[in-house]
Amino acid sequence: MPYIREIIQDGHPTLRKVAKKVDPKEIADPLFQQLIDDMFETMYAAPGVGLAAPQVNVSKRLFVMDIQDDESEAAVVINPKIELAEEEIEMTEGCLSVVGYVGEITRFNHVAVSGLDRNGNKIRLEGHGLFAQCLQHEIDHLNGVLYVDRAKNLRKAETEEEQAIADAAQAQAY
Ligand code: ZN
Repeated sequence: MPYIREIIQDGHPTLRKVAKKVDPKEIADPLFQQLIDDMFETMYAAPGVGLAAPQVNVSKRLFVMDIQDDESEAAVVINPKIELAEEEIEMTEGCLSVVGYVGEITRFNHVAVSGLDRNGNKIRLEGHGLFAQCLQHEIDHLNGVLYVDRAKNLRKAETEEEQAIADAAQAQAY
Protein backbone atom coordinates (compact mmCIF):
# COMPACT_ATOMS: atom_id res chain seq x y z
CA MET A 1 0.00 0.00 0.00
CA PRO A 2 1.30 3.45 -0.87
CA TYR A 3 1.69 5.88 1.98
CA ILE A 4 2.17 9.62 2.29
CA ARG A 5 5.75 10.59 2.95
CA GLU A 6 6.91 13.77 4.64
CA ILE A 7 7.74 16.60 2.23
CA ILE A 8 10.95 18.21 3.46
CA GLN A 9 11.24 21.99 3.49
CA ASP A 10 13.75 24.55 2.25
CA GLY A 11 16.72 24.46 4.62
CA HIS A 12 16.93 20.66 4.58
CA PRO A 13 20.30 19.64 3.09
CA THR A 14 18.84 16.94 0.79
CA LEU A 15 17.09 19.65 -1.24
CA ARG A 16 20.51 21.12 -2.06
CA LYS A 17 22.23 17.94 -3.23
CA VAL A 18 22.62 16.91 -6.84
CA ALA A 19 20.56 13.72 -6.86
CA LYS A 20 22.13 10.44 -8.01
CA LYS A 21 21.32 8.80 -11.31
CA VAL A 22 19.07 5.75 -10.96
CA ASP A 23 20.63 2.46 -12.04
CA PRO A 24 18.07 1.04 -14.53
CA LYS A 25 18.46 -2.35 -12.82
CA GLU A 26 17.03 -0.79 -9.66
CA ILE A 27 13.73 0.20 -11.27
CA ALA A 28 12.13 -3.26 -10.97
CA ASP A 29 13.00 -3.46 -7.25
CA PRO A 30 9.78 -3.51 -5.20
CA LEU A 31 11.20 -0.84 -2.91
CA PHE A 32 11.77 1.45 -5.88
CA GLN A 33 8.24 0.77 -7.18
CA GLN A 34 6.96 1.55 -3.69
CA LEU A 35 8.85 4.85 -3.77
CA ILE A 36 7.08 5.79 -7.02
CA ASP A 37 3.66 4.88 -5.59
CA ASP A 38 4.39 6.81 -2.40
CA MET A 39 5.49 9.85 -4.38
CA PHE A 40 2.20 9.88 -6.32
CA GLU A 41 0.25 9.43 -3.08
CA THR A 42 2.20 12.27 -1.43
CA MET A 43 1.80 14.58 -4.44
CA TYR A 44 -1.98 14.05 -4.67
CA ALA A 45 -2.42 14.43 -0.92
CA ALA A 46 -0.50 17.72 -0.82
CA PRO A 47 -2.13 18.47 -3.31
CA GLY A 48 0.46 19.33 -5.93
CA VAL A 49 1.06 18.89 -9.64
CA GLY A 50 4.62 17.58 -9.35
CA LEU A 51 6.98 16.06 -6.81
CA ALA A 52 10.67 15.17 -7.08
CA ALA A 53 12.29 12.38 -5.05
CA PRO A 54 14.59 14.76 -3.09
CA GLN A 55 11.44 16.38 -1.69
CA VAL A 56 10.71 13.14 0.17
CA ASN A 57 14.36 12.97 1.23
CA VAL A 58 15.44 10.47 -1.44
CA SER A 59 18.37 11.83 -3.41
CA LYS A 60 17.66 10.04 -6.69
CA ARG A 61 16.88 11.35 -10.15
CA LEU A 62 13.16 10.83 -10.60
CA PHE A 63 9.98 12.84 -10.30
CA VAL A 64 6.23 12.37 -10.66
CA MET A 65 3.82 14.85 -12.14
CA ASP A 66 0.16 15.21 -12.99
CA ILE A 67 -1.04 18.64 -14.04
CA GLN A 68 -4.56 17.25 -14.32
CA ASP A 69 -5.62 18.78 -17.59
CA ASP A 70 -7.39 17.06 -20.47
CA GLU A 71 -4.32 16.52 -22.63
CA SER A 72 -1.72 15.02 -20.32
CA GLU A 73 -1.56 11.95 -18.14
CA ALA A 74 0.17 11.32 -14.86
CA ALA A 75 3.81 10.46 -15.44
CA VAL A 76 6.92 9.36 -13.64
CA VAL A 77 10.24 10.22 -15.24
CA ILE A 78 13.48 8.54 -14.16
CA ASN A 79 16.86 10.04 -15.11
CA PRO A 80 15.24 12.89 -17.05
CA LYS A 81 17.14 14.86 -19.65
CA ILE A 82 15.96 18.10 -21.26
CA GLU A 83 16.03 17.63 -25.02
CA LEU A 84 14.48 20.90 -26.06
CA ALA A 85 13.74 24.22 -24.36
CA GLU A 86 12.52 27.32 -26.14
CA GLU A 87 10.46 30.47 -25.80
CA GLU A 88 11.43 32.19 -22.58
CA ILE A 89 8.53 33.58 -20.57
CA GLU A 90 7.87 34.74 -17.04
CA MET A 91 5.73 32.48 -14.86
CA THR A 92 4.42 32.63 -11.33
CA GLU A 93 5.55 29.65 -9.31
CA GLY A 94 5.33 27.97 -5.93
CA CYS A 95 6.82 24.84 -4.37
CA LEU A 96 5.66 22.21 -1.87
CA SER A 97 9.04 22.59 -0.16
CA VAL A 98 8.64 26.37 0.23
CA VAL A 99 5.12 26.45 1.61
CA GLY A 100 3.01 29.59 1.30
CA TYR A 101 5.24 31.59 -1.04
CA VAL A 102 5.10 32.53 -4.70
CA GLY A 103 7.40 34.41 -7.05
CA GLU A 104 8.00 35.15 -10.69
CA ILE A 105 10.55 33.09 -12.56
CA THR A 106 11.77 32.99 -16.16
CA ARG A 107 11.11 29.59 -17.69
CA PHE A 108 10.85 28.06 -21.14
CA ASN A 109 7.31 27.78 -22.43
CA HIS A 110 8.05 24.76 -24.64
CA VAL A 111 10.10 21.85 -23.32
CA ALA A 112 10.77 18.22 -24.23
CA VAL A 113 12.25 15.75 -21.76
CA SER A 114 13.42 12.19 -22.25
CA GLY A 115 13.92 9.55 -19.59
CA LEU A 116 12.68 6.18 -18.39
CA ASP A 117 9.23 5.20 -17.14
CA ARG A 118 8.48 2.88 -14.21
CA ASN A 119 9.02 -0.17 -16.42
CA GLY A 120 12.42 1.08 -17.52
CA ASN A 121 11.16 1.93 -21.00
CA LYS A 122 12.32 5.07 -22.79
CA ILE A 123 9.81 7.91 -22.77
CA ARG A 124 9.68 11.43 -24.11
CA LEU A 125 7.38 14.12 -22.76
CA GLU A 126 6.77 17.37 -24.56
CA GLY A 127 4.51 20.25 -23.70
CA HIS A 128 3.80 23.90 -23.19
CA GLY A 129 2.80 26.19 -20.34
CA LEU A 130 2.24 24.58 -16.96
CA PHE A 131 3.36 21.20 -18.29
CA ALA A 132 6.71 22.65 -19.42
CA GLN A 133 7.03 24.69 -16.24
CA CYS A 134 6.49 21.61 -14.10
CA LEU A 135 9.12 19.58 -15.99
CA GLN A 136 11.71 22.34 -15.46
CA HIS A 137 10.77 22.82 -11.80
CA GLU A 138 11.11 19.11 -10.99
CA ILE A 139 14.40 18.73 -12.87
CA ASP A 140 15.75 21.75 -10.93
CA HIS A 141 14.99 19.80 -7.74
CA LEU A 142 17.17 16.94 -8.98
CA ASN A 143 20.02 19.43 -9.36
CA GLY A 144 19.61 20.91 -5.88
CA VAL A 145 17.98 24.05 -7.22
CA LEU A 146 14.86 25.72 -5.79
CA TYR A 147 12.83 28.28 -7.71
CA VAL A 148 13.37 30.79 -4.89
CA ASP A 149 17.06 30.92 -5.87
CA ARG A 150 16.25 33.00 -8.91
CA ALA A 151 12.65 34.11 -8.41
CA LYS A 152 11.80 37.78 -8.53
CA ASN A 153 9.32 39.40 -6.20
CA LEU A 154 9.25 36.40 -3.84
CA ARG A 155 6.33 37.00 -1.50
CA LYS A 156 3.89 35.36 0.86
CA ALA A 157 0.89 34.15 -1.11
CA GLU A 158 -1.92 36.55 -0.31
CA THR A 159 -4.54 36.74 -3.02
CA GLU A 160 -6.74 33.75 -3.69
CA GLU A 161 -4.93 33.15 -6.96
CA GLU A 162 -1.51 33.30 -5.31
CA GLN A 163 -2.63 30.90 -2.62
CA ALA A 164 -3.85 28.47 -5.25
CA ILE A 165 -0.43 28.60 -6.90
CA ALA A 166 1.41 28.19 -3.60
CA ASP A 167 -0.85 25.33 -2.51
CA ALA A 168 -0.73 23.45 -5.79
CA ALA A 169 3.02 24.03 -6.11
CA GLN A 170 3.28 25.56 -9.52
CA ALA A 171 0.13 26.46 -11.26
CA GLN A 172 -0.68 29.20 -13.67
CA ALA A 173 1.58 30.63 -16.24
CA TYR A 174 1.23 34.16 -17.51
ZN1 ZN B 1 9.17 22.21 -5.86
